[in-house]
Amino acid sequence: MTTSVTAPAPAATPLLQVRRLWAEPEALASARGQQIRARFPAAEIVEVPSHWQIEELYGNAGNVDRWVRVKTEDLVMGVKKSLSARPNSRSSDWIAPSLSNGCAMACAYCYVPRRKGYANPITVFTNIDKIIGYLGRHVRRQGDKVEPNQCDPLAWVYDIGENSDCSVDALVSDNVADLVTAFRDWPTAKASFATKYVNRQLLELDPRGRTRVRFSLMPEADAKMLDIRTSPIRDRIAAIDDFVAAGYEVHVNLSPVVLRDGWEQAWAELLQQLDDATGDAFKAQAAAEIILMTHNRQLHEVNLGWHPKAEDLLWRPELQQPKLSQNGQWNVRYRNNVKAQGVARIQELIGEHAPWLRVRYAF
Ligand code: SF4
Repeated sequence: MTTSVTAPAPAATPLLQVRRLWAEPEALASARGQQIRARFPAAEIVEVPSHWQIEELYGNAGNVDRWVRVKTEDLVMGVKKSLSARPNSRSSDWIAPSLSNGCAMACAYCYVPRRKGYANPITVFTNIDKIIGYLGRHVRRQGDKVEPNQCDPLAWVYDIGENSDCSVDALVSDNVADLVTAFRDWPTAKASFATKYVNRQLLELDPRGRTRVRFSLMPEADAKMLDIRTSPIRDRIAAIDDFVAAGYEVHVNLSPVVLRDGWEQAWAELLQQLDDATGDAFKAQAAAEIILMTHNRQLHEVNLGWHPKAEDLLWRPELQQPKLSQNGQWNVRYRNNVKAQGVARIQELIGEHAPWLRVRYAF
């Protein structure tokens, strides 16, 4: 079932200079494992019994001062044991079983390390054929989507990148290419992923409208402080028309919206930039998710160890309220009235500067 689409040579990107490949033996022996091995020939192989239990990488507070180096130099491969699609609500109908988790980029507000702990490099799953087989059966079981919703009027939307960034995952293996190819043949479903990285190799995949790419956007000044190691905002905007022309549905995530002095002016400029730089084909199918920033007490404390300046923007107790999450961690988000005003203002700004942009949801 897997395709032979070739991703770019990872050595060409400073994001991934892999020196250690931590591998479950079964994953390493698989065809996908061998492909990944071949892409990082200089990496030392370290066999591990479980991709979840690598003391040197996870839950190790000592890694705070090596935060970005671990993301660059370590890659983990494993076999995904339990496969399930979880119901979702706002952005997609379902969360697909992950192809990977972790990320080589290092956004200061990223929630992914909340689950995995500390440095959080990419773990890639090699049993892609099983994941695609599972998804195909899941899609068929849903049948047609008879009631439109905010995710999509016609298709069941599956988020394929909840715990990673698929554009960077596509540098590591053909997992993303295989899924984009699989969704081409599922007319009742659509893949969807948010991204902060422009990987132009994805333009070669011929998605035929069955994959939605959501470019995440925020004002350039915020991104420089918070979106560490990602593609510049101007590059993400410049890629939009090319992805539409290549057959992707392209939406934008206006997220996270960080409230700070001057935020309204900065977002107005960003929306104007989006309007100026994109063509009619994009605008005719565009939609947006708006997500105001949430943060987390543990992550705040970790960030103080490697990127304290970001916390001046993210940690604003005078504007925020705590909320105990299901996993027992304290998340913080803007107070209800602050958040409601922020959401309303962003929608006004869209009306003024990008009136063609339909808002799928604001949260
Ligand atoms: S790109 Fe996404 S997954 Fe990667 S660090 Fe940023 S928020 Fe996290």
